Amino acid sequence: MNSNQLFEKSYAVTPGGVHSPVRSFKMMECDPVFFSEGKGAYITSVEGKKYIDFCQSFGPNILGHRDPDVQGAVCKVFNKVWTLGALDPYSVELSSWLVEKIPFIDKLRFVCSGTEAVMTALRLARAYTGRQKVLKFEGCYHGHVDNMLVKSGSGLAGMAESSSLGVEEKIVENTLVCGLGDLNHVEDIFKKHGDDLSCVILEPLPANYGLLVQEEEYIKAVYNLAKKYGALVIFDEVISGLRVGFTGMAGRLDLTPDIVTYGKVIGGGFPVGAYAARKDIMAHMAPEGGVYQAGTLAANPIGMVAGLTTLKKLEEHNVQQRLEERTTRFAATINEHIAKHNLPWQMIHYSSLFWLAPKTEQPIKSPRDFPDNMTQTFAKYFRACLKRGMYQAPNAYEVGFMSWAHDDNVLAAAQQIIVESLKEASETH
Ligand SMILES: *Cc1c(COP(=O)(O)O)cnc(C)c1O
Repeated sequence: MNSNQLFEKSYAVTPGGVHSPVRSFKMMECDPVFFSEGKGAYITSVEGKKYIDFCQSFGPNILGHRDPDVQGAVCKVFNKVWTLGALDPYSVELSSWLVEKIPFIDKLRFVCSGTEAVMTALRLARAYTGRQKVLKFEGCYHGHVDNMLVKSGSGLAGMAESSSLGVEEKIVENTLVCGLGDLNHVEDIFKKHGDDLSCVILEPLPANYGLLVQEEEYIKAVYNLAKKYGALVIFDEVISGLRVGFTGMAGRLDLTPDIVTYGKVIGGGFPVGAYAARKDIMAHMAPEGGVYQAGTLAANPIGMVAGLTTLKKLEEHNVQQRLEERTTRFAATINEHIAKHNLPWQMIHYSSLFWLAPKTEQPIKSPRDFPDNMTQTFAKYFRACLKRGMYQAPNAYEVGFMSWAHDDNVLAAAQQIIVESLKEASETH
């Protein structure tokens, strides 16, 4: 079956034909492509066309698709056990490894997704503080937990409205939303609601709605306000956590979050998430404490082994730092071409993440800085790349993921495709 036939079939049985909205080609105004294979930096469509892949499943594949070492380890455990729902050594190895590497966590628990990790972190913060409200930021994504599907409303400062239908009003009332980068707003909210706030949750590196690199002082100021009012600080490091380095953005900012959430890289390509915290906070989790959280497939042996093998390989080859250098060089080259051809674009990057955005006068630091028509502009570029054999998320606001498999040869090819596609997308017809 070709991609068009598959889409028709999929559309009949799945909303929009996709199992996650960010996979939809709807906004790209072109026929969707279905992929059936991945190896290293490449994915192959059902038609047999090979594409350089910068989506990499939105981050888990930091070593690329099916890294041989990870595949070897997975095959070994695959021949022993799939899922137990009982005590196992694999999860002990991965959790001990992480606790040893990350100085500010004493304990952690595995779940099956970033969303689940965030959901539990919020519950734990409410239980620990005995408070109900949570403060989040516009432009940060925390999965599809009800409390987090809330955006700032048009009314009073901090008053919010849901960004999805079906979210309970009571929950929306307890979620306060602040503009990213707006310290005055944060201070106002703390003055008014500080004593009711169970926690502040943020992506210390917002990378789900563009790549909105924040000023260090800003994150630190928010952190200090939370501490002053006795609210817990949750760093949602599902993207950034093990990608920017083992201690994540918390390590880079030299801050000690109360709870950290992980996902993506932690499972080496399999469904694993985790939440982690100090001993006294984690003691609230059942069966030690009264906060309930459980999972049939949690700490699945295959995910545990894939995660640990991935992390050990990252350490052995100093992958995070080398990917950062690689991404910096790559973005510099792209930006040189952009300048040379006077194209209305910019490549923003941090660590091994990059984001191609329309050129702006000021740096883009929050969704308020987004230029108009980003989707239409990006769609042209997306289609031009696709035609030339390069895939990325079909969405103007999603970042690109550099992997260990994107070597010099792949990047030289990618650079050519990107520059040609930018030129094509910038032509006015
Ligand atoms: C991806 C992501 C999530 C959601 O994780 P899922 O595994 O998709 O549920 C939450 N927070 C952040 C920061 C993420 O990047």
